[in-house]
Amino acid sequence: MRTSSVCEHCDPETIKTKKEREIVMKKDCLFCEIARGSIPSATIYEDSWFRVFLDVNPASRGHALIVPREHFDNIYELDAETAGRLFSLATCIARAMRDALGCQGLNLVQNNGAIAGQTVEHFHLHLIPRYEGDGVDLTWPQHEIDKEEMEEIRKAIKAKI
Ligand code: 5GP
Ligand code: ZN
Repeated sequence: MRTSSVCEHCDPETIKTKKEREIVMKKDCLFCEIARGSIPSATIYEDSWFRVFLDVNPASRGHALIVPREHFDNIYELDAETAGRLFSLATCIARAMRDALGCQGLNLVQNNGAIAGQTVEHFHLHLIPRYEGDGVDLTWPQHEIDKEEMEEIRKAIKAKI
């Protein structure tokens, strides 16, 4: 039987529906202010859950951010319902970008922690339209790994799900 949680082990506290929760904002958070509209943004979509606006320093033409109205520092704090709605919205914005901008591709990027490049501590998903010769570089080194190490990693993560 299917449940409404993301996995069978999710803490039910994190999957409360929005109706049961207040939208919690964080004082002095730039994206809380933008999401609620008290700081202006080039908004392309908004509803009671999210605001989607253009990045002020775009990596490419049309670079946008999907930002929940509720404050979550990062992906570890995000609840299942917000996450599900967010990705669903991303599919919609992606198609709109493809049709409006004529981009040849699209990257979704989501940074957690300074080490990963997060500069604004309010969860957000980047949608970066891609064009021939746009100069955007999202590459990373590719390492070799032996079977034993891969198995050790697989087991360690699996045990925590
Ligand atoms: P991060 O590095 O945290 O993944 O992404 C933060 C993004 O927010 C950056 O791409 C940055 O350009 C964008 N950003 C920062 N401040 C503002 C702002 O005041 N308005 C808008 N529209 N984007 C911002
Ligand atoms: Zn915030």
